[in-house]
Amino acid sequence: SNSFNIEKIRADFPILSRKVNGHPLVYFDNAATSQTPSQVIHAIVDYYENYNANIHRGVHTLSQEATDAYEEARETLRAHFNAAKKEEIIFTSGTTHGINLVASGFASELKKGDEVIVSALEHHSNIVPWQMLCEKTGAILKVIPMTNSGELDMAAFQDLLSAQTKLVFVNHVSNALGTVNPIKTIITEAHKKGAAVLIDGAQAAPHIKADVQALDVDFYVVSGHKMCGPTGVGVLYGKEEWLNKLPPYQGGGEMIDQVTFEKTTYAGLPHKFEAGTPNICGGIAFGKAIDYLNEISFEAIAAYEHELLEYATKQLLEIEGVTIYGTSKEKTAVISFNIEGIHPYDIGTIIDKLGIAVRTGHHCAQPIMDFYKIPGTVRASFAFYNTKEEIDAFVASVKRAKIMLS
Ligand code: PMP
Repeated sequence: SNSFNIEKIRADFPILSRKVNGHPLVYFDNAATSQTPSQVIHAIVDYYENYNANIHRGVHTLSQEATDAYEEARETLRAHFNAAKKEEIIFTSGTTHGINLVASGFASELKKGDEVIVSALEHHSNIVPWQMLCEKTGAILKVIPMTNSGELDMAAFQDLLSAQTKLVFVNHVSNALGTVNPIKTIITEAHKKGAAVLIDGAQAAPHIKADVQALDVDFYVVSGHKMCGPTGVGVLYGKEEWLNKLPPYQGGGEMIDQVTFEKTTYAGLPHKFEAGTPNICGGIAFGKAIDYLNEISFEAIAAYEHELLEYATKQLLEIEGVTIYGTSKEKTAVISFNIEGIHPYDIGTIIDKLGIAVRTGHHCAQPIMDFYKIPGTVRASFAFYNTKEEIDAFVASVKRAKIMLS
């Protein structure tokens, strides 16, 4: 189609033309981090070459230019996620920071015996902060179990919900398996019990445009580096009433109204949660990455990636001994697999010699590996700039690795 020109798209990503170990790079580790288009790289260079300055407090021109660009990026993110207000968009260093900010804030909201619900499909960053919160408050952590197909057991979720449920946190898409979770239902059912919901959108955001108002979600967190932006920047969306209620996460400059040694009053949103000099350039570049993705369109991205997923799944399953974990019909372009009798790490190491980048291991989701009783998987994760030719090279390399290792 006109809107989706793969040649043009690939030309936007300088890294895609490099060689690795003498072979053209095939980058299938997009769930770990995405690659960066020239438009975003140029925004970073432009910032440091032309208007690098600290924001919000300067009267001079550079500071005002940097402040304007940073706040424009916040507006881009607000519009993208359809937040009602700019004040509800908090810049963070990434998903992990966003989750910890909320978890730490809830320490004053929870008491002993309250219940919080997590899912079996979570990344460690959406497990550990809540365990720490439960230890601190005496709240009880409950887990929505998963099924063999890598989906959440929604009947079990209904049974876990109770009048004691205060918080539910689930990822929108599982990084280890690619499963898209039924978050709208989860949010609706949790709200019926008066519980707040945090959705970890780290893996969904590169593929699915979430509308936080339509979802009626309380918190939604993402990382810039998974969506063609730089590392070290992310966004926490929070409903205004919640953000007003929660205490600040860090104290420092930028987040105050008045400071005396007797008492400090805090700045309003979003600054209350943005202590210290932020990742100014990162925020600006994140905004450019969002513009870039929207120009291609999330509909076109999802449709193309789905084609890649089906094409690769079919070919992989033709290799004897291959098991794919995560077989939900609702999944993003992630294939987590093993070959019988072969350690995933060995496959990853051999195919790297052939220029192919995949991830091997537990993908920061050990409970999922425990469920399947495996040490880890080989995970190939696709982006809109990948091609069927790259999948052919990948499948050929996996076949070669299998022969070498059997
Ligand atoms: N949640 C999920 C589902 C993820 O995939 C990741 C990144 N692998 C994270 C959270 C953590 O994101 P970050 O490392 O950018 O903070």
